[in-house]
Amino acid sequence: RKKINVLGMEFDYYNAYDLMKALRGKINRGKKTFLVTANPEIVMYARKDEEYREILKDADYVIADGTGVILGSKMLGTPLPERVAGYDLMCSLLEAGSREGWSAYFLGAKKEVVEKAVDTVHVKYKGLKVAGYHDGYFKNSDAIVAEIKAAKPDLIFVAVGFPRQEKWIYEHMGEFEKGLFIGVGGSFDVLAG
Ligand code: UDP
Repeated sequence: RKKINVLGMEFDYYNAYDLMKALRGKINRGKKTFLVTANPEIVMYARKDEEYREILKDADYVIADGTGVILGSKMLGTPLPERVAGYDLMCSLLEAGSREGWSAYFLGAKKEVVEKAVDTVHVKYKGLKVAGYHDGYFKNSDAIVAEIKAAKPDLIFVAVGFPRQEKWIYEHMGEFEKGLFIGVGGSFDVLAG
């Protein structure tokens, strides 16, 4: 697969359309997948945190989120096709999931925020099944992991802010059989309105 290096981070060469096509295939085949949408903040942070850098190397997809990353890739003479924002990707996945009858788990944000976000999902993405949700202010992950293991959702959105969300996914992914795991930062706040 084609990779583009921007300041030490290896990005996958995808536009939003081709990415969704690839992800639809993975999800419908039940293939466990870890995707990171990396903005300039993440790129700069990864330069200082080796553990985080190694985690991102292990991700199945690292996608450029932010015009700064696209601009950087152009200046380096190896342009990436386009920005794919985490929030937009989440909405595209919910939309596709609504058509395909996928299920999703929502982990992160304040309790009232994730509840509101889930309410919005029920209204806006009717065909999608909500497998469960939990706020992002927890210490012990055991109950959450058990819930996800039992529900086997197709999509797992983790919105506890970077770098914690990617570290959480990396730490627990081995315990799950399937699902697309993606860190989506403050996206539940936007979805909650
Ligand atoms: N958050 C959380 N648990 C925490 C700290 C933050 O669930 O311990 C949530 C917070 O409520 C917000 C999101 O994580 O919904 C962080 O959003 P932000 O826009 O700061 O994302 P970042 O740019 O840090 O990834």
